Amino acid sequence: MLDDLKQQVLEANLRLPASGLVTLTWGNVSGLDRDRGLMVIKPSGVPYDRLRAEDLVVLDLESGRRIEGSLNPSSDSDTHLEIYRAFPSAAGVCHTHSPAATAWSQAGRPLPCFGTTHADHFYGEIPICRTLTPEEVTAGYERMTGLAIVETFHHLHLNPAAVPGVLQHGHAPFTWGPHALSALDNSIALEMCARMALDTLALNPDAAPLPQHLLDKHYLRKHGPSAYYGQGHH
Ligand SMILES: [Zn+2]
Repeated sequence: MLDDLKQQVLEANLRLPASGLVTLTWGNVSGLDRDRGLMVIKPSGVPYDRLRAEDLVVLDLESGRRIEGSLNPSSDSDTHLEIYRAFPSAAGVCHTHSPAATAWSQAGRPLPCFGTTHADHFYGEIPICRTLTPEEVTAGYERMTGLAIVETFHHLHLNPAAVPGVLQHGHAPFTWGPHALSALDNSIALEMCARMALDTLALNPDAAPLPQHLLDKHYLRKHGPSAYYGQGHH
């Protein structure tokens, strides 16, 4: 069952170590079959070099119950599930503790869009998501993390398809996309933008965000109905 999706999720997880985003096993990618309502995710604590397609865990989107797989799913599974439940455009989710994006998360600062590299991937600032209350942590830390991410997007009136990532205060980034590999790409892009933003502020603490007309130009030429970047295979 779900062989193609498992292959894609496996490939995305195997790319994590080479991407430079993860240390030890601190990262996970999932993929969703929205028609069947099933999520495929990395098992918890299995080193990437030993990960096989049959180790992946299949969870029911609605109930969160394990449908397939003998290993425990990633401990972040409930966060992934809440992102899929709330964001219809997401069919892949990636979570890492990549150093630069995590530094912004720990500083509790949204990541400004300082340049066109950022604008090519994300339509503006990457929001910061609040920390959880003691009650929320007790009630279900990972699920509440997902709900807080969703709350952040509602509160800021952000389109999760146009801003496919978030920084959780005190924790690290989550990104998503239309499939597992695009969610991974967005984590790689986010890390690069986060690192360049640190350098930008080191060189000029008063650096201003990219003006709106350039943000519009760079984002909209690659995304949306008027996109013209690349070879037309969107
Ligand atoms: Zn984490």
